[in-house]
Amino acid sequence: VDAATPLDLANRWLFVTDLAQQSWCEQQVFYKFRPPRDTDDLLSVDIPNPSVEKGSIIHLAREAELHTKVPVPTTTKEDAFAVTVINIIGSLRRLLSGSPMVREMPIFGMPFDLGIFVSGIIDQVQCDPESMHYDIWELKTRSSMSVPSGAQKDSTKIQVMLYKKMLDDLILNRITHRMIEKHRKVDLYLELSLSVQAECPGSENNLHQLLSVLFDMGQKMTCVSQLFVEYCYQEDKSAIALEEVQYDEAWLCQKITHYSEFWYGKREVCGVDIEEAWKCHSCDFQDHCAWRAMKADEYTRKCTQQKQIK
Ligand code: SF4
Repeated sequence: VDAATPLDLANRWLFVTDLAQQSWCEQQVFYKFRPPRDTDDLLSVDIPNPSVEKGSIIHLAREAELHTKVPVPTTTKEDAFAVTVINIIGSLRRLLSGSPMVREMPIFGMPFDLGIFVSGIIDQVQCDPESMHYDIWELKTRSSMSVPSGAQKDSTKIQVMLYKKMLDDLILNRITHRMIEKHRKVDLYLELSLSVQAECPGSENNLHQLLSVLFDMGQKMTCVSQLFVEYCYQEDKSAIALEEVQYDEAWLCQKITHYSEFWYGKREVCGVDIEEAWKCHSCDFQDHCAWRAMKADEYTRKCTQQKQIK
């Protein structure tokens, strides 16, 4: 008997994109962690498609306009997590010292105290120097000159709202050393490698000290004001649309709570509804998907019954 929950399969922590994609199709997210049977050769999910590649190049170019990436050798998982913390400290420090924006800022948190550690990377945080309001911008590149469907927008809505929730939680001091120790399973007092210590803002040499710097810095910020999604055309990088997302904490909490039941194995995985079967046409798992096969059977049975009644 396989007692592993989806959260176990995901190593007990998630990316923001896992939760955002869950709104598109939960079954598809599950298959990323446990591919369907007889699909050993189904590696297409790992083959970057041209549109994704073009999008990554645009993201990297935007980041390079503001920051230079410095590779930091890491040895332990504590080192790797410390680099994330150092990057957040660097971003907050730039914002607090008057930079109008930072890009590719990591963030982590435990939204709504559901016991699930989540991490992500915010495309852009902007600061209005007069009001000192912080806004989050998410860049979505498109292969056509149009905004996406409502279903894709819902996924992006969850993504940007989670960024705000986690950044606000950091600012409001709702993240603790203990949470990180417990849920990322890191030793907060393990001495960091010298290559990582060299990048620390001061003389910190372990995660506990680094996190204290981060939490102190967070308290100097104010909560995120507005959320925007910028759609840009991949071919010529021209703007398609800029849309504001209204933050709705109750809606987000209800969604993430429902999603968490799947991660904890409290309910069965759910695929797309029959009305949204169009999503399956672009899915790598469409020929092997148990959910899709089950829905197709249900549909055939229903049609047969209706014919018999007539
Ligand atoms: Fe989801 Fe459809 Fe893909 Fe199955 S085939 S994982 S239901 S999108």
